[in-house]
Amino acid sequence: MRKYVIMGVQGSGKGTQAKLLADDFDIVHISVGDILRWNVQHHTKLGAQVRRIMAAGELVGDDLVESVVQERLNVHDWNYGFLVDGFPRNARQAEFFLESYDIDGVILLELADEEVTRRVLARRLCSQCGVDYNLLGHRPSTPDTCDVCGGKLVQREDDNPEALASRLRDYHAKTKPIIELFERKEFVATVDANRPIGEVQRDIRDQLDLPA
Ligand SMILES: [Zn+2]
Repeated sequence: MRKYVIMGVQGSGKGTQAKLLADDFDIVHISVGDILRWNVQHHTKLGAQVRRIMAAGELVGDDLVESVVQERLNVHDWNYGFLVDGFPRNARQAEFFLESYDIDGVILLELADEEVTRRVLARRLCSQCGVDYNLLGHRPSTPDTCDVCGGKLVQREDDNPEALASRLRDYHAKTKPIIELFERKEFVATVDANRPIGEVQRDIRDQLDLPA
C-alpha cells in the first residue's frame, strides 16, 4: 500500500506527475479539483454548492474540501494506495490526515514564481470550444485561432499578472505551515519541477524508492 500527498503551485505539472504515478502503480489519484469540477458538470448537490460559492467570488472552504476528501477515501477502492492532490489545506487538516492515514510520503513540486508566471501568462483558451493552449508548448498553428474549431483564443480573466501575484502570495502563505508540519513528521520529497516531465518523474521515484 502506497499513500502519498502531492503538492505544488499551479503550473508545476502536478496533475501530469500524479497521473504518471497513479497509472504505473495502480494507485488512486484523488484530485480535489477534479472531484469539484465533476460535481459542477454533473449538477449534483455538492456541485450546486460549489457553483454558489464561486458565483459569490469566494473560494471553496477548507471544511468542504475536507469532507469531500473524507468521503472519497471512505469509498475504499484504493487497494494499492492513493495520491491526494489539493488537500490538506491547512496545518490542522494536515495533522489529522497524517494521524489517520499513515502517509508514506509527500511530494513537493517546486517552481520559482517567475517560472510559474511565465507559464501561466502563456495559457490560452478557445472562447468557443474550450480547448486549452499554451504559447510555450502547445501553440495554435494560426496565431490566436483555435486549431479545432477556428474560434478566437483568449486568456482566462484571472490569468493576469496582478491576480496571479496575489494567488502566489496566498499559495505560499497557506502552504508554508503545511510543508513545515510535513517536514517535521514525514518524508518530504522536494522535486525541482523546472525540468522535462520524464526527469521530474524519475526524481520523484528515486526519492520515494519507487521502481523506475
Ligand atoms: Zn476551439
